[in-house]
Amino acid sequence: MTADLQIHQLKNCPGCGGDRSHVVPLGDPPLRRCDGCSLVYAPRYADPAEVYVEGYLFGETPFGLDLMHPLFQEFLAYAATLRLQLIEKAVGPKGTLLDVGCGTGELLAVARARGWTTTGVEPVEQSARYAVDKRGLDVRAAMLEESGLPERTYDVVSAFHVVEHMVDASAFLRSISRWVRPGGYVVVEVPNWHSFHRRNAGIAWNGFRPLEHVGHYGPATLKATLRGAGLTPVMVRTPGFLWEKQTLDHQLDDLGLYRWNGRLRRLGRVGEHNGQSAIVPRRFTSRAFLGLQAIYNRLGVGQVVLGVARVD
Ligand SMILES: [Zn+2]
Repeated sequence: MTADLQIHQLKNCPGCGGDRSHVVPLGDPPLRRCDGCSLVYAPRYADPAEVYVEGYLFGETPFGLDLMHPLFQEFLAYAATLRLQLIEKAVGPKGTLLDVGCGTGELLAVARARGWTTTGVEPVEQSARYAVDKRGLDVRAAMLEESGLPERTYDVVSAFHVVEHMVDASAFLRSISRWVRPGGYVVVEVPNWHSFHRRNAGIAWNGFRPLEHVGHYGPATLKATLRGAGLTPVMVRTPGFLWEKQTLDHQLDDLGLYRWNGRLRRLGRVGEHNGQSAIVPRRFTSRAFLGLQAIYNRLGVGQVVLGVARVD
């Protein structure tokens, strides 16, 4: 699938730009850890022009995902609600929100329903078109820099699962900060390198995405990268998105407990998932898992890292 892809080598740390690193014995070729800021990063990546193309969010390319399944859409709306609750806690009253790399607009649709005034930019035209035509959102099919949107304007500029794709995350963060009004906020979310899930999954961790994900951030390295870009972090959390409609296996997977799937079978019961018979968590199991997820968040080992930083 990747035979004729153009592959680039990474020379500098995507977090701090440093050029000294050592090998982390994971992956082939192995990952590296920056001697300066401790960020773990991939040694090479595919040319972005060949990755982020039509079909990326519709399961039609070797990369990307299929977001269009109705159950996945319902899950994304639920996850967006949890994300926005956290953001609103950090930034105060709802105002204007610009989402960079907004894809098909799941987060923006929920934000609008919660009272935000929403705008999005998305370079993949098919995704942007979906957000406009199907959801009636104000989304530009463009890179932010070419979008024509006014700088120093938005209360919040967000980028979900974008920073880990960036070869120079600091430059990216500085760039999106230009669209934030003074005193406003940048919000980013990335997969959590320090997650319990990653520690247990090794190379099977779903955050690896070789050739696509470049920087593997944890709470500390994301915070350092935000600071390095001239921002002031005000909240860094590691939430998870356990959901009542997941199967027991999904939930165990999200908690990084899939290794013990066999032994933990009795935590489930026969129920229904996506119209089919499946093992789903018992009610007390769901409550216990949500408690465990909250503990993960406190310990910094939850599924993703969500950072909110002020632009002064
Ligand atoms: Zn670094």
